[in-house]
Amino acid sequence: MNADYPLDIIDAAAPAPRRSRQARVAWGEHVVTVGGDAPVRVQSMTNTDTVDVIGTAIQVKELAQAGSELVRITVNTPEAADAVPHIRDQLDRMDVHVPLVGDFHYNGHRLLTEHPAMAQALSKYRINPGNVGKGDKKDRQFAMMIEAAARYDKVVRIGVNWGSLDQELLAELMDQNARRSQPVNAKQVMYQALVQSALTSAGYARELGLNPDNIIISCKVSGVQDLISVYRALARRCDYALHLGLTEAGMATKGTVASATALAVLLQEGIGDTIRVSLTPQPGEARTQEVVVALEILQSLGLRTFNPSVTACPGCGRTTSTTFQELAKQIDDFLRAQMPVWKARYPGVEGLKVAVMGCIVNGPGESKHADIGISLPGTGEAPAAPVFIDGEKALTLRGEHIARDFFQLVQSYIERRFGTATAAH
Ligand code: SF4
Repeated sequence: MNADYPLDIIDAAAPAPRRSRQARVAWGEHVVTVGGDAPVRVQSMTNTDTVDVIGTAIQVKELAQAGSELVRITVNTPEAADAVPHIRDQLDRMDVHVPLVGDFHYNGHRLLTEHPAMAQALSKYRINPGNVGKGDKKDRQFAMMIEAAARYDKVVRIGVNWGSLDQELLAELMDQNARRSQPVNAKQVMYQALVQSALTSAGYARELGLNPDNIIISCKVSGVQDLISVYRALARRCDYALHLGLTEAGMATKGTVASATALAVLLQEGIGDTIRVSLTPQPGEARTQEVVVALEILQSLGLRTFNPSVTACPGCGRTTSTTFQELAKQIDDFLRAQMPVWKARYPGVEGLKVAVMGCIVNGPGESKHADIGISLPGTGEAPAAPVFIDGEKALTLRGEHIARDFFQLVQSYIERRFGTATAAH
């Protein structure tokens, strides 16, 4: 074999982030920075009736515990507006200080001016320029919301969505396009309308006195290629922090894959300061699944580390039992379930790497790259499972209880390496 091929340095560096303004989304002492040099933030949205104070507070708590750094709630009626300060109080009593974002459509101008306790209890307002009013009411009602944000020093997301795009602006751009000697296609006009709606609204908000650092922009669409095109255009045209998300991504596998595909391309280009994965929950599925997916996207890209990772092989004809699949799942579930407590007890544990492999082909090699790894016996192999710790073969497990024994080894490894008594390891 000829080994004379010249090898350049193979760069695996994380993408250079687009440098944006930094917004400070605050609740009391608890501040979540978005943009600038802050890590890409994860956010989510409740699907409870906001009027249900306890139900909404519990879901906000679950989302926050799952890793959501901002949580948005619907504020659609006077009753919902009245509930917001109580939700905030309830969260504070539960020691949950995640900032709340209010989602406004159609009547936000009235709610924000007539319910000052709600306006103060929220840390950020989401305003959709396509849903603030028509004709001469549009600017006036938008101004009322921005004035509330300026008065209470709140961050505003100007959140354009192609499902509720400003129809007057779209019609105007369509007319302009029709008069061009070489009209562009309708999709191009739609992209332009999305970007223009967001940036024109942001400019107007600044004229009204809103601090530009308090402006975050989003232009959500439901097509992967559309989202990538629109956000590339936005990133070139402004320095506001960008909220990234594929709207109406869909359910389960489709929604997860579509969101991950779109967000990964943009995040790899350094575009996106905060993300939300808009999954439709399956019946009975926890709302927190959208947070789990968002964390996985950021962790897979190497942008942030939230949870210990479990490397597991897919299995093949060399594995005829499900032992290794079950063990990989048990370990993954166990690590995730423990993280809310472990974050405080075992500093750095989120960087732990565990490998659970199905046979001797890649098992020992992959296990050596992990902090702790096990190579289970494949079909026809001796019933022994070598365990590697910190790259060295430490012992071999045998017998009926390989899974249970490995589980205990992982627990004692975490205690030894990340326990506060030996935090200097
Ligand atoms: S490690 Fe073994 S069991 Fe797992 S995929 Fe590779 S060959 Fe198959």
